[in-house]
Amino acid sequence: MKQLTLRLPDELYEEAKRIAEREGFSFNAFAIQAFNHYVKNYEVPKHKCFLCGEKADLELDDGRWIYDNCAQIQGELSQR
Ligand SMILES: [Zn+2]
Repeated sequence: MKQLTLRLPDELYEEAKRIAEREGFSFNAFAIQAFNHYVKNYEVPKHKCFLCGEKADLELDDGRWIYDNCAQIQGELSQR
């Protein structure tokens, strides 16, 4: 099985940690729940990333769709 490493943007990580604390479960438990939710949604792709053709789950302002990995890369590139 392929191993996945998920890296959340800092503000998303903080937000997730806050929610986990508020709801009274550990961050890991919350992360697993969120991941399961994500995987479940991932099974039914409706759009394809305009960059790489992967299943996309983020819609851009101009109506194109992007895979969140690519969006993150784009975001990092545009910050330079
Ligand atoms: Zn892509």
